[in-house]
Amino acid sequence: MNKYMTIFKKIIDWEISSEIVYEQDNLIVIKDINPKAKIHLLIIPKKEIATINDLKDEDRELLADMFFVAKKIAKDLWIEEGYNLQFNVWPKWGQEVMHLHLHLLSNI
Ligand code: 5GP
Repeated sequence: MNKYMTIFKKIIDWEISSEIVYEQDNLIVIKDINPKAKIHLLIIPKKEIATINDLKDEDRELLADMFFVAKKIAKDLWIEEGYNLQFNVWPKWGQEVMHLHLHLLSNI
């Protein structure tokens, strides 16, 4: 087992269910199980990267895709006029799941 195997990897592999709102070759977007805003989505790369600190040069395009997907979803959900994008990095700043993910939150 990969040392970073997390609940998100199991969701990506369809081993456990979640509400997937968008998927493309290199990432998925799911509804957060414990939403902190009216809209709370998680943009999750399929590649197992633990945190922002673990990004490699080869991940640049993937990271860009995460932001472009956030932009697309904000447009699709009509929340372009107010939303937050957030990475928590390491448990001391609230990262519970050690698989990279971008929070997309909005109360619009
Ligand atoms: P973190 O605190 O690591 O930045 O964010 C992890 C997020 O994942 C939390 O907001 C938490 O509610 C969410 N989460 C944890 N387990 C699950 C799960 O099994 N399914 C879904 N959809 N979200 C989860």
